[in-house]
Amino acid sequence: MHGIVPLKLEENAIDVQLGRLSNSVQVVFSNNYNAKKTKMSDKNEGNPPAEKTIFDAIAQGDLTEFKNILAKHKGGVDFFDENGMTALQHAAYKGNKDMVQLLLDRGADVNSGKHEYNYTSLHFGALSGSSDVCKLLLDAGAKSTATNSVGRSAAQMAAFVGNHHTVATINNYLPRSEIAYYSTLQGQQTEPYLPAFLVEPLHKFVLGVNIHPVRLALNLQHSPALLEHADKVIKVLELMCKKEMTRGSETNEVMAFKYHYLAYIVREISNIRDKQKPAADKDEKKHDIVEIFSKKLLKPGKDGVSLDLMDTFLKDCVREFPFRECTTFHQMVTSLTSKDPPPALSIINCTINGQRGFVDVIPYCSTCGEEKPAKKCSKCKSVQYCDRECQRLHWFVHKKACNRESSVPAPTSNTKVNIDANELSSELQNLIAG
Ligand SMILES: [Zn+2]
Ligand SMILES: [Zn+2]
Repeated sequence: MHGIVPLKLEENAIDVQLGRLSNSVQVVFSNNYNAKKTKMSDKNEGNPPAEKTIFDAIAQGDLTEFKNILAKHKGGVDFFDENGMTALQHAAYKGNKDMVQLLLDRGADVNSGKHEYNYTSLHFGALSGSSDVCKLLLDAGAKSTATNSVGRSAAQMAAFVGNHHTVATINNYLPRSEIAYYSTLQGQQTEPYLPAFLVEPLHKFVLGVNIHPVRLALNLQHSPALLEHADKVIKVLELMCKKEMTRGSETNEVMAFKYHYLAYIVREISNIRDKQKPAADKDEKKHDIVEIFSKKLLKPGKDGVSLDLMDTFLKDCVREFPFRECTTFHQMVTSLTSKDPPPALSIINCTINGQRGFVDVIPYCSTCGEEKPAKKCSKCKSVQYCDRECQRLHWFVHKKACNRESSVPAPTSNTKVNIDANELSSELQNLIAG
Protein backbone atom coordinates (compact mmCIF):
# COMPACT_ATOMS: atom_id res chain seq x y z
CA MET A 1 0.00 0.00 0.00
CA HIS A 2 1.94 2.98 -1.07
CA GLY A 3 -0.23 4.91 -3.46
CA ILE A 4 -1.37 8.11 -1.84
CA VAL A 5 -3.78 10.32 -3.62
CA PRO A 6 -4.11 13.54 -1.70
CA LEU A 7 -7.34 15.29 -1.24
CA LYS A 8 -8.69 17.21 -4.14
CA LEU A 9 -10.98 19.81 -2.71
CA GLU A 10 -12.73 22.62 -4.42
CA GLU A 11 -11.27 26.04 -3.73
CA ASN A 12 -14.28 27.01 -1.58
CA ALA A 13 -14.21 23.81 0.37
CA ILE A 14 -10.64 24.50 1.42
CA ASP A 15 -11.49 28.03 2.49
CA VAL A 16 -14.33 26.73 4.57
CA GLN A 17 -12.28 24.00 6.14
CA LEU A 18 -8.93 25.70 6.40
CA GLY A 19 -7.65 25.68 9.93
CA ARG A 20 -10.15 23.12 11.13
CA LEU A 21 -8.64 19.98 12.57
CA SER A 22 -9.70 17.62 9.91
CA ASN A 23 -9.87 13.89 10.23
CA SER A 24 -11.72 13.89 6.99
CA VAL A 25 -8.46 14.34 5.12
CA GLN A 26 -7.54 10.76 5.81
CA VAL A 27 -10.94 9.67 4.55
CA VAL A 28 -10.53 11.64 1.37
CA PHE A 29 -7.08 10.13 0.97
CA SER A 30 -8.19 6.56 1.30
CA ASN A 31 -11.39 6.90 -0.72
CA ASN A 32 -9.56 8.41 -3.63
CA TYR A 33 -6.83 5.90 -3.19
CA ASN A 34 -9.06 2.90 -3.58
CA ALA A 35 -10.69 4.24 -6.70
CA LYS A 36 -7.32 5.10 -8.13
CA LYS A 37 -5.63 1.85 -7.24
CA THR A 38 -7.80 -0.25 -9.51
CA LYS A 39 -7.38 2.16 -12.36
CA MET A 40 -3.59 2.34 -12.05
CA SER A 41 -2.79 -1.18 -10.99
CA ASP A 42 -1.69 -2.44 -14.39
CA LYS A 43 0.89 0.37 -14.70
CA ASN A 44 2.46 -0.73 -11.44
CA GLU A 45 3.61 -3.98 -12.96
CA GLY A 46 6.17 -2.02 -14.95
CA ASN A 47 8.05 -0.99 -11.79
CA PRO A 48 11.34 -2.90 -11.38
CA PRO A 49 11.28 -5.04 -8.23
CA ALA A 50 13.95 -3.02 -6.37
CA GLU A 51 11.97 0.17 -6.76
CA LYS A 52 8.78 -1.49 -5.68
CA THR A 53 10.44 -2.90 -2.56
CA ILE A 54 11.68 0.58 -1.67
CA PHE A 55 8.11 1.88 -1.82
CA ASP A 56 6.96 -1.08 0.24
CA ALA A 57 9.63 -0.56 2.91
CA ILE A 58 8.60 3.10 3.22
CA ALA A 59 4.93 2.15 3.47
CA GLN A 60 5.74 -0.32 6.24
CA GLY A 61 8.07 2.12 8.01
CA ASP A 62 10.75 -0.58 8.06
CA LEU A 63 13.97 1.41 8.35
CA THR A 64 16.36 -1.56 8.46
CA GLU A 65 14.81 -3.13 5.39
CA PHE A 66 14.77 0.27 3.69
CA LYS A 67 18.51 0.75 4.37
CA ASN A 68 19.31 -2.72 3.03
CA ILE A 69 17.41 -2.24 -0.21
CA LEU A 70 18.77 1.24 -0.70
CA ALA A 71 22.35 -0.02 -0.21
CA LYS A 72 21.83 -2.61 -2.94
CA HIS A 73 20.04 -0.21 -5.27
CA LYS A 74 22.62 1.26 -7.62
CA GLY A 75 20.64 3.74 -9.69
CA GLY A 76 19.16 7.12 -8.80
CA VAL A 77 16.27 7.44 -6.39
CA ASP A 78 14.04 9.82 -8.35
CA PHE A 79 11.79 7.12 -9.81
CA PHE A 80 8.01 7.30 -9.65
CA ASP A 81 5.24 5.04 -8.49
CA GLU A 82 1.97 4.64 -10.38
CA ASN A 83 0.73 7.96 -8.94
CA GLY A 84 3.76 9.94 -10.07
CA MET A 85 5.14 10.07 -6.55
CA THR A 86 8.82 9.72 -5.68
CA ALA A 87 10.23 7.68 -2.81
CA LEU A 88 11.12 10.96 -1.10
CA GLN A 89 7.50 12.10 -1.30
CA HIS A 90 6.33 8.86 0.27
CA ALA A 91 8.90 9.09 3.06
CA ALA A 92 7.91 12.73 3.64
CA TYR A 93 4.23 11.83 3.81
CA LYS A 94 5.06 9.17 6.36
CA GLY A 95 6.89 11.85 8.36
CA ASN A 96 9.89 9.53 8.44
CA LYS A 97 12.87 11.75 9.14
CA ASP A 98 15.50 8.98 8.81
CA MET A 99 14.22 7.79 5.45
CA VAL A 100 13.97 11.35 4.15
CA GLN A 101 17.56 11.99 5.23
CA LEU A 102 18.81 8.78 3.60
CA LEU A 103 17.07 9.60 0.33
CA LEU A 104 18.44 13.14 0.33
CA ASP A 105 21.91 11.74 1.03
CA ARG A 106 21.43 9.60 -2.06
CA GLY A 107 20.75 12.71 -4.11
CA ALA A 108 16.95 12.65 -4.21
CA ASP A 109 15.60 15.74 -5.98
CA VAL A 110 13.52 17.54 -3.38
CA ASN A 111 11.42 19.33 -5.99
CA SER A 112 10.85 16.30 -8.21
CA GLY A 113 7.47 14.66 -8.66
CA LYS A 114 4.73 14.14 -11.21
CA HIS A 115 1.82 14.04 -8.87
CA GLU A 116 -1.49 14.65 -10.56
CA TYR A 117 -2.41 17.44 -8.12
CA ASN A 118 1.09 18.96 -8.07
CA TYR A 119 1.87 18.02 -4.49
CA THR A 120 5.56 18.44 -3.69
CA SER A 121 7.65 16.62 -1.10
CA LEU A 122 7.16 19.63 1.15
CA HIS A 123 3.37 19.39 0.80
CA PHE A 124 3.58 15.78 1.91
CA GLY A 125 5.94 16.64 4.76
CA ALA A 126 3.58 19.42 5.82
CA LEU A 127 0.63 17.02 5.85
CA SER A 128 2.61 14.54 7.91
CA GLY A 129 3.02 17.16 10.62
CA SER A 130 6.71 16.42 11.04
CA SER A 131 8.54 19.72 11.41
CA ASP A 132 11.85 17.84 11.30
CA VAL A 133 11.02 16.40 7.90
CA CYS A 134 9.99 19.81 6.59
CA LYS A 135 13.22 21.32 7.90
CA LEU A 136 15.29 18.66 6.09
CA LEU A 137 13.38 19.26 2.87
CA LEU A 138 13.78 23.04 3.14
CA ASP A 139 17.51 22.64 3.86
CA ALA A 140 17.71 20.59 0.68
CA GLY A 141 16.14 23.42 -1.31
CA ALA A 142 12.42 22.63 -1.29
CA LYS A 143 10.46 25.56 -2.66
CA SER A 144 8.01 26.66 0.04
CA THR A 145 6.08 28.81 -2.44
CA ALA A 146 5.16 25.88 -4.72
CA THR A 147 1.41 25.37 -4.84
CA ASN A 148 -0.72 22.32 -5.54
CA SER A 149 -3.51 22.15 -8.09
CA VAL A 150 -5.89 24.09 -5.85
CA GLY A 151 -3.34 26.85 -5.37
CA ARG A 152 -2.27 25.95 -1.85
CA SER A 153 1.27 26.08 -0.53
CA ALA A 154 2.73 23.48 1.82
CA ALA A 155 2.24 25.78 4.83
CA GLN A 156 -1.42 26.31 3.90
CA MET A 157 -1.98 22.58 3.66
CA ALA A 158 -0.33 22.13 7.07
CA ALA A 159 -2.72 24.74 8.48
CA PHE A 160 -5.61 22.93 6.84
CA VAL A 161 -4.90 19.78 8.80
CA GLY A 162 -4.07 21.69 12.00
CA ASN A 163 -0.28 21.14 12.01
CA HIS A 164 0.47 24.56 13.47
CA HIS A 165 4.04 23.85 14.47
CA THR A 166 4.78 22.75 10.91
CA VAL A 167 3.18 25.92 9.54
CA ALA A 168 5.48 27.98 11.75
CA THR A 169 8.52 25.90 10.78
CA ILE A 170 7.91 26.52 7.09
CA ASN A 171 7.00 30.19 7.46
CA ASN A 172 10.01 30.92 9.70
CA TYR A 173 12.46 29.16 7.43
CA LEU A 174 15.37 30.90 5.84
CA PRO A 175 18.28 29.29 4.00
CA ARG A 176 21.64 29.15 5.75
CA SER A 177 23.11 31.21 2.89
CA GLU A 178 21.11 34.25 4.06
CA ILE A 179 23.18 34.26 7.24
CA ALA A 180 26.42 33.00 5.69
CA TYR A 181 26.27 36.13 3.50
CA TYR A 182 27.29 38.23 6.52
CA SER A 183 30.36 36.10 7.11
CA THR A 184 31.84 37.18 3.77
CA LEU A 185 33.50 40.53 3.19
CA GLN A 186 31.17 43.24 1.88
CA GLY A 187 32.53 46.18 -0.11
CA GLN A 188 35.48 47.82 1.63
CA GLN A 189 35.24 45.68 4.75
CA THR A 190 38.41 44.22 6.23
CA GLU A 191 36.45 42.06 8.63
CA PRO A 192 33.03 40.51 7.97
CA TYR A 193 30.04 41.36 10.15
CA LEU A 194 29.90 37.80 11.38
CA PRO A 195 32.76 35.36 12.13
CA ALA A 196 32.24 32.12 10.17
CA PHE A 197 31.85 30.00 13.31
CA LEU A 198 28.74 31.96 14.28
CA VAL A 199 26.83 31.18 11.06
CA GLU A 200 25.62 27.77 12.22
CA PRO A 201 24.51 28.73 15.76
CA LEU A 202 22.86 31.94 14.55
CA HIS A 203 20.99 30.06 11.81
CA LYS A 204 19.70 27.62 14.38
CA PHE A 205 18.75 30.43 16.74
CA VAL A 206 16.83 32.30 14.03
CA LEU A 207 14.96 29.19 12.84
CA GLY A 208 13.56 28.49 16.30
CA VAL A 209 9.77 28.47 16.31
CA ASN A 210 9.30 29.01 20.03
CA ILE A 211 9.85 32.74 20.51
CA HIS A 212 9.13 32.83 24.25
CA PRO A 213 11.82 35.11 25.76
CA VAL A 214 12.84 32.53 28.37
CA ARG A 215 13.22 29.84 25.67
CA LEU A 216 15.39 32.23 23.66
CA ALA A 217 17.47 32.93 26.77
CA LEU A 218 17.93 29.19 27.30
CA ASN A 219 18.86 28.76 23.63
CA LEU A 220 21.48 31.48 24.00
CA GLN A 221 22.81 29.83 27.11
CA HIS A 222 23.25 26.62 25.13
CA SER A 223 25.10 28.58 22.40
CA PRO A 224 27.56 30.60 24.46
CA ALA A 225 29.45 31.79 21.37
CA LEU A 226 26.40 33.83 20.31
CA LEU A 227 26.27 35.59 23.64
CA GLU A 228 30.02 36.16 23.72
CA HIS A 229 29.70 37.98 20.40
CA ALA A 230 26.34 39.55 21.15
CA ASP A 231 27.28 42.87 19.55
CA LYS A 232 27.97 41.17 16.21
CA VAL A 233 24.83 39.02 16.44
CA ILE A 234 22.68 42.08 17.17
CA LYS A 235 24.24 43.99 14.29
CA VAL A 236 23.57 41.16 11.82
CA LEU A 237 19.99 40.72 13.01
CA GLU A 238 19.41 44.44 12.54
CA LEU A 239 20.87 44.28 9.04
CA MET A 240 18.67 41.29 8.24
CA CYS A 241 15.65 43.22 9.51
CA LYS A 242 16.46 46.17 7.28
CA LYS A 243 17.18 43.95 4.28
CA GLU A 244 13.86 42.17 4.72
CA MET A 245 12.02 45.52 4.65
CA THR A 246 13.72 46.69 1.48
CA ARG A 247 13.07 43.76 -0.81
CA GLY A 248 10.34 45.57 -2.75
CA SER A 249 7.56 43.17 -3.65
CA GLU A 250 9.38 40.37 -1.80
CA THR A 251 9.34 42.27 1.49
CA ASN A 252 8.56 40.05 4.45
CA GLU A 253 7.45 42.31 7.30
CA VAL A 254 6.89 39.40 9.63
CA MET A 255 10.44 38.09 9.31
CA ALA A 256 11.75 41.65 9.61
CA PHE A 257 9.90 41.97 12.90
CA LYS A 258 11.20 38.59 14.05
CA TYR A 259 14.81 39.71 13.49
CA HIS A 260 14.13 42.93 15.37
CA TYR A 261 12.57 40.93 18.20
CA LEU A 262 15.49 38.49 18.41
CA ALA A 263 17.99 41.38 18.42
CA TYR A 264 16.01 42.99 21.27
CA ILE A 265 16.15 39.81 23.37
CA VAL A 266 19.85 39.21 22.69
CA ARG A 267 20.59 42.82 23.69
CA GLU A 268 18.68 42.48 26.96
CA ILE A 269 20.42 39.24 27.91
CA SER A 270 23.77 40.61 26.89
CA ASN A 271 23.14 43.65 29.13
CA ILE A 272 22.36 41.39 32.06
CA ARG A 273 25.54 39.45 31.34
CA ASP A 274 27.62 42.65 31.26
CA LYS A 275 26.25 43.74 34.62
CA GLN A 276 27.09 40.37 36.11
CA LYS A 277 30.59 40.17 34.71
CA PRO A 278 32.72 42.01 37.26
CA ALA A 279 31.51 40.14 40.32
CA ALA A 280 30.76 36.77 38.84
CA ASP A 281 32.99 33.77 38.80
CA LYS A 282 32.17 32.20 35.44
CA ASP A 283 31.77 28.58 36.46
CA GLU A 284 29.82 29.28 39.62
CA LYS A 285 27.31 31.56 37.95
CA LYS A 286 26.43 29.37 35.01
CA HIS A 287 22.67 29.84 35.29
CA ASP A 288 22.57 33.34 36.60
CA ILE A 289 21.82 35.19 33.40
CA VAL A 290 18.80 33.12 32.44
CA GLU A 291 17.68 33.04 36.05
CA ILE A 292 17.82 36.79 36.45
CA PHE A 293 16.08 37.27 33.12
CA SER A 294 13.29 34.78 33.83
CA LYS A 295 12.77 36.08 37.38
CA LYS A 296 12.15 39.46 35.85
CA LEU A 297 9.74 38.19 33.20
CA LEU A 298 7.87 35.42 35.03
CA LYS A 299 7.12 37.39 38.19
CA PRO A 300 3.32 37.65 38.44
CA GLY A 301 1.69 41.06 38.72
CA LYS A 302 -0.67 42.26 41.47
CA ASP A 303 -3.45 39.90 40.43
CA GLY A 304 -1.05 37.01 40.92
CA VAL A 305 -1.52 35.73 37.38
CA SER A 306 -0.76 38.22 34.62
CA LEU A 307 2.86 38.81 33.73
CA ASP A 308 2.98 42.59 33.87
CA LEU A 309 6.77 42.90 33.64
CA MET A 310 6.94 40.61 30.63
CA ASP A 311 4.18 42.64 29.02
CA THR A 312 5.98 45.94 29.53
CA PHE A 313 9.24 44.46 28.30
CA LEU A 314 7.62 43.14 25.11
CA LYS A 315 5.55 46.26 24.45
CA ASP A 316 8.79 48.23 24.49
CA CYS A 317 10.15 45.83 21.89
CA VAL A 318 7.20 46.50 19.56
CA ARG A 319 7.52 50.24 20.20
CA GLU A 320 11.18 50.15 19.14
CA PHE A 321 10.48 48.49 15.78
CA PRO A 322 12.00 50.98 13.35
CA PHE A 323 9.57 50.43 10.44
CA ARG A 324 6.45 52.11 11.75
CA GLU A 325 4.64 52.54 8.45
CA CYS A 326 4.23 48.83 7.79
CA THR A 327 0.99 46.88 8.19
CA THR A 328 2.47 44.41 10.66
CA PHE A 329 3.45 47.19 13.07
CA HIS A 330 0.02 48.80 12.82
CA GLN A 331 -1.75 45.51 13.46
CA MET A 332 0.33 44.84 16.56
CA VAL A 333 -0.21 48.33 17.95
CA THR A 334 -3.95 48.04 17.29
CA SER A 335 -4.08 44.77 19.23
CA LEU A 336 -1.91 46.08 22.07
CA THR A 337 -4.02 49.20 22.53
CA SER A 338 -7.39 47.51 22.16
CA LYS A 339 -9.82 47.34 25.08
CA ASP A 340 -8.81 44.39 27.27
CA PRO A 341 -5.83 43.44 25.09
CA PRO A 342 -4.32 39.96 24.99
CA PRO A 343 -0.81 39.59 26.48
CA ALA A 344 1.92 41.14 24.35
CA LEU A 345 3.58 37.73 24.09
CA SER A 346 0.46 36.28 22.46
CA ILE A 347 0.29 39.16 20.00
CA ILE A 348 3.95 38.78 19.06
CA ASN A 349 3.61 35.02 18.75
CA CYS A 350 0.54 35.38 16.53
CA THR A 351 2.41 37.87 14.38
CA ILE A 352 5.52 35.76 13.95
CA ASN A 353 4.04 32.27 13.91
CA GLY A 354 0.66 33.05 12.41
CA GLN A 355 -1.24 31.18 15.06
CA ARG A 356 -2.87 31.48 18.41
CA GLY A 357 -0.63 32.58 21.23
CA PHE A 358 0.19 30.47 24.24
CA VAL A 359 -3.48 30.21 25.11
CA ASP A 360 -4.63 27.04 23.47
CA VAL A 361 -5.80 23.68 24.73
CA ILE A 362 -2.36 22.29 23.96
CA PRO A 363 -0.32 21.96 27.17
CA TYR A 364 2.76 24.15 27.28
CA CYS A 365 5.73 24.67 29.55
CA SER A 366 4.94 27.19 32.30
CA THR A 367 8.44 28.61 32.00
CA CYS A 368 9.26 28.83 28.32
CA GLY A 369 6.02 28.19 26.44
CA GLU A 370 7.30 25.05 24.68
CA GLU A 371 4.38 22.99 23.42
CA LYS A 372 3.61 19.57 24.83
CA PRO A 373 6.35 19.49 27.46
CA ALA A 374 7.46 16.07 28.65
CA LYS A 375 7.23 16.57 32.42
CA LYS A 376 4.87 17.80 35.06
CA CYS A 377 5.25 18.86 38.67
CA SER A 378 4.98 15.60 40.57
CA LYS A 379 3.35 17.19 43.58
CA CYS A 380 0.41 19.10 42.18
CA LYS A 381 0.47 17.76 38.60
CA SER A 382 -1.13 21.02 37.52
CA VAL A 383 1.83 22.57 35.73
CA GLN A 384 4.10 21.19 33.03
CA TYR A 385 7.72 21.75 32.15
CA CYS A 386 10.23 20.76 29.46
CA ASP A 387 12.77 19.57 32.00
CA ARG A 388 14.28 20.26 35.40
CA GLU A 389 15.87 23.46 34.22
CA CYS A 390 12.48 24.91 33.29
CA GLN A 391 10.97 23.75 36.58
CA ARG A 392 13.84 25.27 38.53
CA LEU A 393 13.41 28.63 36.78
CA HIS A 394 9.69 28.68 37.57
CA TRP A 395 9.82 27.47 41.16
CA PHE A 396 9.92 30.97 42.67
CA VAL A 397 6.46 31.50 41.17
CA HIS A 398 5.02 28.05 41.39
CA LYS A 399 6.02 27.13 44.95
CA LYS A 400 3.09 29.02 46.51
CA ALA A 401 0.46 27.52 44.24
CA CYS A 402 2.05 24.10 44.48
CA ASN A 403 2.08 24.16 48.28
CA ARG A 404 -1.53 25.25 48.33
CA GLU A 405 -2.70 22.54 45.97
CA SER A 406 -0.69 19.78 47.51
CA SER A 407 -1.18 18.07 50.87
CA VAL A 408 2.46 17.02 50.97
CA PRO A 409 4.60 19.36 53.11
CA ALA A 410 6.69 21.78 51.14
CA PRO A 411 10.35 20.95 50.67
CA THR A 412 11.33 24.49 51.62
CA SER A 413 9.39 26.52 54.12
CA ASN A 414 11.37 29.73 54.15
CA THR A 415 10.18 32.82 52.37
CA LYS A 416 13.35 33.62 50.53
CA VAL A 417 12.68 34.62 46.95
CA ASN A 418 16.03 33.45 45.68
CA ILE A 419 16.26 29.71 45.89
CA ASP A 420 19.42 28.00 44.91
CA ALA A 421 19.81 24.71 43.14
CA ASN A 422 20.68 22.76 46.30
CA GLU A 423 17.53 23.81 48.07
CA LEU A 424 15.54 22.67 45.11
CA SER A 425 17.22 19.39 44.49
CA SER A 426 14.84 17.26 46.54
CA GLU A 427 11.88 18.82 44.79
CA LEU A 428 13.53 18.27 41.44
CA GLN A 429 14.00 14.60 42.18
CA ASN A 430 10.23 14.38 42.11
CA LEU A 431 9.88 15.70 38.62
CA ILE A 432 8.19 12.95 36.71
CA ALA A 433 7.30 12.20 33.15
CA GLY A 434 3.97 13.73 32.32
ZN1 LIG B 1 10.33 24.88 29.14
ZN1 LIG C 1 3.44 21.83 41.70
